Amino acid sequence: MKRGTGHSTKGRAKSAPATSPMADTQRLEFVPVLRPRLPSADAIVNYLRRIDDTRIYSNFGPLVAEFQRRLEHLLGTPARSVVSASSGTTALIGAILATAGTASAPRLFALMPSFTFAATAVAAERCGFQPYLVDVDPTTWTLDPAALENHSILSQVGAVVVVAPFGRPVRQAPWIRFGELTGIPVIIDAAASFSCIARAPEPFLGPLPTVLSFHATKSFGIGEGGCVISTKAALHDRLVASLNFGFVANRDSALPSVNGRLSEYHAAVGLAELDSWSTKCAALNEVAKNYRNSFASVGLKDGFFALPDVDGNYALYLCRSKAESESVQAHLNKGRIDFRFWYDKGLHHHKHFSNVARDSLPVTELLGHRLIGLPMAPDLNENAIRRIAEAVCMGVMTAHQDGNVETRECPTQ
Ligand SMILES: *Cc1c(COP(=O)(O)O)cnc(C)c1O
Repeated sequence: MKRGTGHSTKGRAKSAPATSPMADTQRLEFVPVLRPRLPSADAIVNYLRRIDDTRIYSNFGPLVAEFQRRLEHLLGTPARSVVSASSGTTALIGAILATAGTASAPRLFALMPSFTFAATAVAAERCGFQPYLVDVDPTTWTLDPAALENHSILSQVGAVVVVAPFGRPVRQAPWIRFGELTGIPVIIDAAASFSCIARAPEPFLGPLPTVLSFHATKSFGIGEGGCVISTKAALHDRLVASLNFGFVANRDSALPSVNGRLSEYHAAVGLAELDSWSTKCAALNEVAKNYRNSFASVGLKDGFFALPDVDGNYALYLCRSKAESESVQAHLNKGRIDFRFWYDKGLHHHKHFSNVARDSLPVTELLGHRLIGLPMAPDLNENAIRRIAEAVCMGVMTAHQDGNVETRECPTQ
């Protein structure tokens, strides 16, 4: 390849400055990869007082009902389209049970991407399915329905769990078509997709059950919680039952189920989070904008992803090679900047899922090594963002000097 050339394409600075801004690591403040901020005690307390009055603590009580209604209003979906859950994972379990039920011998598999968080496979497994891992599209990072339509495993598949990677929302229409064509229930794991969906819900919400997580690390956070959204009225009672011991109209357990109810206390945090959502959302957008400007000024805007491309709690940098990724990681470490591979290198690299059935996964392998999760917080300051962009740039430039990839340069600010 271009090993040893080491020349700048534009004839400017060819090497790192002798003293980089990161040289004095001792004095640099550590930047954590994620610093969530949920509603303060003061913002929650009036809702908690309502719990003291009603003495209703769970079981789809009044605060949960209000939380669901306000979510429906924000997302523009009909009444009874949002069913809350105790976590994103229980919401996924409820959505699978309500649509696909538990696995049967002839249809043992739940088809899903390997490029996702462990919860996707954990939820399918709790419903009796064996995960069958497939690769993702290199541009969308998610499953491609057209590519899967004729997959040879489909006759043994009882559910397809599509994932909105890093919250990049998944359109319903092609998956509705896929469901009609194959007869297989489709569930959308949009756990991290709240801010992306809320800004333009229409193409992303519909009859297919779409799962959101309200975990503290997501952009809309309540500690632990989640919901399933479906505009299909007939699904509502089944979703509630699947999250509530299979109870439909009475205390007869009539369907496969789990206890996945959201408590009134968590709904209190949810209502407070809704009260301040527009402020938080604006703050996340501002951080994303500052990030984009900083990456543009070091000439790396093409590899950078934040709102609105991915959800508000993510800032990602896609390296062009594994060598570049390793160099960027080294410079982030040196600059005391935390980072994370949010989906590790794919589910098939986890011990528990290392032996599950799967296709070959070249795109997952590629993304797993190259897509670096950078720090994010609603109050991440411009100085930290500049340090991050510079560290990434130094990493990219150093990799190029080592001749691993085509030469680039790193402007000093
Ligand atoms: C966060 C997340 C989940 C799990 O949500 P919890 O609320 O933590 O259970 C599932 N899938 C994806 C893609 C996620 O990002």
